[in-house]
Amino acid sequence: MRRIIIAGNWKMNKTSFEAIELVNVLKRDLSTVKEVDIVVCPPFTALTEVSDLLVETNIELGAQNVYWEDSGAFTGEIAGSMLKHIGVKYVIIGHSERRQFFAETNETVQKRIKAALKNELTPIVCIGESLKEREANQTFAVIKNQFEGGFAGFTPQEILKMVIAYEPVWAIGTGKTATAQQAQEVHQYIRDLLKTKYGEETAEEIRIQYGGSVKPENIRELISQTDIDGALVGGASLQADSFSKIVKNCCPVLK
Ligand code: PEP
Repeated sequence: MRRIIIAGNWKMNKTSFEAIELVNVLKRDLSTVKEVDIVVCPPFTALTEVSDLLVETNIELGAQNVYWEDSGAFTGEIAGSMLKHIGVKYVIIGHSERRQFFAETNETVQKRIKAALKNELTPIVCIGESLKEREANQTFAVIKNQFEGGFAGFTPQEILKMVIAYEPVWAIGTGKTATAQQAQEVHQYIRDLLKTKYGEETAEEIRIQYGGSVKPENIRELISQTDIDGALVGGASLQADSFSKIVKNCCPVLK
């Protein structure tokens, strides 16, 4: 049985003061939720304050990126050990915005995953096609390429420590959600790739989140699909009310 995981990607939003305000409300609203893994991913500047607030709660902390070297002359970068030291448990890797604006490639994704695992951080690895690629019927080819490149060289034991997020780029921040059927089709394809590479038992254990304009109104239908095990939420994670509703709307659905 795969536990549903809902993660909020705050992107470049919230000062540390605003982050504290949001997390205090989430803590109160979500304190009774036991059925869902809940993660918030604030910007680096708010991680320490949020980490302190999340001690002994049911909400875990994620970062939005990690560099692959352990330390040294890499101005502006953050190492996995630094994240671990302040209580970070998850890290988003390969988000489409990083692929699009910051020259992220399958190779750098693979290096970041390695660094995360080395520091006992759970990578949330994002893959997904653009609108142009979908319209050119290249969705599966793009997913396969990102999967084979980003996940190259990992053992089944390592892959079991990861979460995959399928995020169609055309659905991110656009208000356009993939239909539950469109999303399920790709999730099933990803699970098939996992089966071929790591075997059925391993593939069945790995959680695959959907990301792209998830809202309280559409989460239930999405996670009722066989291969959708939660969501990576951008815009709707910035308000306590919508994020809490998304989490709570997952509670009755057990897989
Ligand atoms: C995201 O940034 O990962 C995302 C899915 O954003 P949004 O929910 O705003 O589409």
